[in-house]
Amino acid sequence: MINKSFLWQIPTKIYFGVGEAKKINNRIKELGSKNVLIVTDIAIRNTGKIDEIEEQIKNRVDINIDIFDEVKPNPTAKIVEEGVKKAKNMEADLILAIGGGSSIDTGKAIALLMNNEEEIEYFWKNPPKNKSIPLIAVPTTAGTASEVTWVTVIKDTDKKVKMGIGSPKIAPTIAICDPLLTISMPKSVTVSTGLDALTHAIESYTNTITEPISESIALHAIYLIGKYLRAAYSKGDNIEARYNMLLASLMAGIAFANTKLGVVHAITSPMGGYFDVPHGVINAILLPYVMEYNLIGNIDKFAKVATALGENVDGLNKYQIARASVKAVKDLSKDVDLPKGLAEVGVKKEFLEEICEEAMKNVGIPINPRQPELEDLISICKAAM
Ligand code: NAD
Repeated sequence: MINKSFLWQIPTKIYFGVGEAKKINNRIKELGSKNVLIVTDIAIRNTGKIDEIEEQIKNRVDINIDIFDEVKPNPTAKIVEEGVKKAKNMEADLILAIGGGSSIDTGKAIALLMNNEEEIEYFWKNPPKNKSIPLIAVPTTAGTASEVTWVTVIKDTDKKVKMGIGSPKIAPTIAICDPLLTISMPKSVTVSTGLDALTHAIESYTNTITEPISESIALHAIYLIGKYLRAAYSKGDNIEARYNMLLASLMAGIAFANTKLGVVHAITSPMGGYFDVPHGVINAILLPYVMEYNLIGNIDKFAKVATALGENVDGLNKYQIARASVKAVKDLSKDVDLPKGLAEVGVKKEFLEEICEEAMKNVGIPINPRQPELEDLISICKAAM
C-alpha cells in the first residue's frame, strides 16, 4: 500500500478502565451539563446499574436527571420520537446513553434531534446541519462500539429498513468504557456482541479502503477476540476476559468507523429490517461464508487473520493458511454455541433475493475484497441458511 491518501479521525474522548463508570459525575462536570436524560432499556435498568448511576448523579444537587428506559433491541424511529419528547420536556443539555448498541444508537438519535428540526428519517439521506447536543455513551455490551462510531442504526418499521445514519456530528462527545458493566451480559448477548466485534474487525481489516492505522488496530482486535471470547463466554465474571473483549470491541469500532465494512454488513443491514433478529448473530452466522468467498481477493490478509486467531499454520502454504482463517472462525462460533444457521434464528428463504438486491446497493459492496454479483450474495445466504 503506497501513496495512499486517507483521512483518519476519532472525534470521541475515551475513558477506559475498571471502575470508570463510578466517575460519571466528573465527566458531566467536564461538560458543564445541568439537565441529564439517561437513555437505556428496561432489561439494563433491572440489573440495578441505572439505580447506582442515578444515585451517583443525584449527589450533585445542581443536576436534574430523568430516565427514558423504553429502548428496545433494533430501536425504531417511533422510540426515538418518544425519547425526544422526554428530552425536550426537561430541556436536556446532555444525553447519557447507557446500554448496548440499541440504547446508545437511540441516545445518539435523540441528541441529534435535540439540535436539528427534521425527523430522524431525513438524516438517512441528508447530512445534519447542526452538531448533536453533548452525549456520553456508556456501553454495557462489548460488540457494536457505538460508543465511538459516528453512525446510529434506527429501524424505519414501515419500510422494513434499518437506516445507518452517519455523520461525525453525531459521534458521542465522551465514551466511558467500564468492563464491570459488561459482566451481567447473558451468554447469548456475550456471543452475539463478541462475534459482531470480530465481524467489524475482519471486514475493516480486509476491505479495499483500509489504511495502515486501522489495519493495525483491527488486527489486534482480531487477536484479542480469538484469545478472550471463549473465556468471557465460559465465565461471565472473568474480568480479564471482559476487559479485553470491551477493548477489542472498541478497537474494532475505531477501525471500522474509519474504513467502513463489507459484504456481511451489506447483507445484514436489510436482513435486520426484515426480521427482528440480533444483529451480531446474523453477522456471525454469515461471516465464515463471506470469508470463504472473499479469500482469493486477499490471500495475504486472510492468512494474517488465521495467525491472529491462533491457528497452527506450520507447514502450510499461504493459501492453506488463509483458508485456516475460515476454520478458526467456525471453531470459535461452535465453541460459543452460536446458532448454526440463519433459518434457526427466523430468517425466511423466500425473502433472500429481495434482501440481496437491497444489499447490492450498500457502501460495503464496492470496497469488499472481492467484487460480488447479486447471485454471489444469494449463494452466500443460501449456504448460511
Ligand atoms: P442491544 O443493545 O440490542 O442489547 C441486547 C440485549 O442485551 C438487550 O435486551 C439488553 O437489555 C441486554 N443487555 C445489554 N447489556 C447488558 C448487560 N450488561 N447485562 C444484561 N443485559 C444486557 O445489543 P447490541 O448488540 O449491543 O446492539 C445491537 C444494535 O446496535 C443493533 O440495532 C445494531 O444494528 C446496532 N449497531 C450499531 C452500530 C453503530 O456503530 N452505531 C454498530 C453495530 C451495531
